Amino acid sequence: MKALVKAKSAPGLWMQETQNPTIDADQVLIKVHNTGICGTDIHIYNWDEWAQKTIPVPMTIGHEFAGEIFDIGGKVKNLKIGQRVSAEGHIIGANSRAARSGCYHLDPDTKGTGVNLPGAFAEYIAVPAFNVIPLPEEIEDELGAILDPLGNAVHTALSFDLVGEDVLVTGAGPIGIMAAAVARHVGARHVVITDMNPARLALAERVVDCTPVDISQQDIKSVMAQLRMTEGFDVGLEMSGAPAAMDMMIDVMVTGGKIAILGLPSKPFAVDWGKIVFKLLTIKGIYGREMFETWYKMIAMLQSGLDVRKVITHRLAAQEFELGFQTMKAGNSGKIVLDWR
Ligand SMILES: [Zn+2]
Repeated sequence: MKALVKAKSAPGLWMQETQNPTIDADQVLIKVHNTGICGTDIHIYNWDEWAQKTIPVPMTIGHEFAGEIFDIGGKVKNLKIGQRVSAEGHIIGANSRAARSGCYHLDPDTKGTGVNLPGAFAEYIAVPAFNVIPLPEEIEDELGAILDPLGNAVHTALSFDLVGEDVLVTGAGPIGIMAAAVARHVGARHVVITDMNPARLALAERVVDCTPVDISQQDIKSVMAQLRMTEGFDVGLEMSGAPAAMDMMIDVMVTGGKIAILGLPSKPFAVDWGKIVFKLLTIKGIYGREMFETWYKMIAMLQSGLDVRKVITHRLAAQEFELGFQTMKAGNSGKIVLDWR
C-alpha cells in the first residue's frame, strides 16, 4: 500500500510502497479515506529536537483520520465490515492505576498512533477495536478526519462551566478556533479569541460568532471595555503555548477565574505565580481527549448544531502532501485534509 513515511533521520516525508498492516484478533483494519495534517506532523516533517528523540525511523506517521472497516479480528464483536469510523489515536496500556480504574486518558503508558506506533497517513491502518469510533451518517469522512483535534478543543473547552461566562481563547489556530466554537455552542456570553496573525483571526470570524483580537494592534483591555466587561474573563483557554499569551491571560482573568491550557510551550518559561495566587486562579493542563466522554460529547454537539466545517481550508489528494505540509508551515491555513481514495 501507499504510505507517507518518515523514512530517514532528516527533514521531510516520503510517499512509499509499504506492507499492508496485519491485524490481531482484537483489532480492525481500516481503509483510510481522509486524514488531517496536525502540528505534530509538522514537527515530524521538520525533524526538530522533539521529533528526533520521539519518532522511530522508518515509520508511517499521521493520527487524524476517518475511513471504513475493511477487515475484522476474530475476537471483535461490536463492529462490522463497511462501517464508517474514526479512532482515538492514543493506545492505552492495561496496567497503570489510571487505566485499571477506567481513567484511560490519564494512563502514563499511552502510546500515540503515528508518533510511537505506525500511523494513518496510509491506505490502511490497523487499530484496536477498543479505540474505534463509529461515525453517524451526518458526520462525513472529511469532518471525521478532524475529530482528533476537535476532541482536543472539546476536552479543553468543556473543562469548566461556560454557560453565561466570558471566555478568552489565546491562539487562533484550528484548535483554538474550534474551542471558541464549542464555547459559543454551549452558551458562553462573550467569546474573545486573540492571535497576531490576521489570516487566522479572519478564519476564526468565518467559523464562529466571536470577537477576534489582533493583540499586536489592539489592547485586550480596550476590547473588554467595548464589550462592557467590568471584571475580567471567567474562563481562559490557552491554545498558543506563547509565554506572552499566558501573561496576558493571567492579567485579564477575573478573581477566581479558571484556565485550561492545551498550548504547548516550546521551552520552559517564567510565570508570575504571585498573580495566580492573589487571583485565586485554577489552572488545568489538558492533553488528548477523555476516553471516551470527549468523543461522546463531541459527536452529540456535532449532531445538535456545532459546525466547525469551515475550519477546513484545504482539501488535497494524498499525493499532494508536500503542498499540504508547505501550506500548513506557512501558518495561514486552517485544517488541511488529504484524500487517500
Ligand atoms: Zn493531531
